[in-house]
Amino acid sequence: MADPDERFDSIVKKLKENNHKLTPQRLAVVKILATSKGHPNVEKIYELIQKDFPTMSLATVYRNVMLLKSLGEVLELGFPDGSNRYDGNKPYSHPHVICVKCKKIIDPDLDTLKDMTAEVADETGFKILMHRLDFFGICQDCI
Ligand code: ZN
Ligand code: MN
Repeated sequence: MADPDERFDSIVKKLKENNHKLTPQRLAVVKILATSKGHPNVEKIYELIQKDFPTMSLATVYRNVMLLKSLGEVLELGFPDGSNRYDGNKPYSHPHVICVKCKKIIDPDLDTLKDMTAEVADETGFKILMHRLDFFGICQDCI
């Protein structure tokens, strides 16, 4: 996991460079995404922000997440059931392990995938832009 404080600072820097206002509400969304504990969905971010910003709407949270995604500062993980989850701690392709019971998502700590990307590029002649690798299982809390 990247240092959440460093991620927070670099997301804020990117917002400034692109002339986006640093409202307290926006910074609260950035703060949650810089850590991305459990890979929250928009509803979860909204819920976490409610106690500090009770007037902030779900739509505003959504717009802020989309802004950060458009700046390349958040990785969106879409699923066939329509539930999108977000990672602003590591906003680039990396493997995930997903619990099919409680829907927890964690980042396994592996280096092997970097080599795999190079191998796939060699084997196919593709210039690889990104990848998606999800492992589905049952977490220790749910076994
Ligand atoms: Zn679980
Ligand atoms: Mn992740």
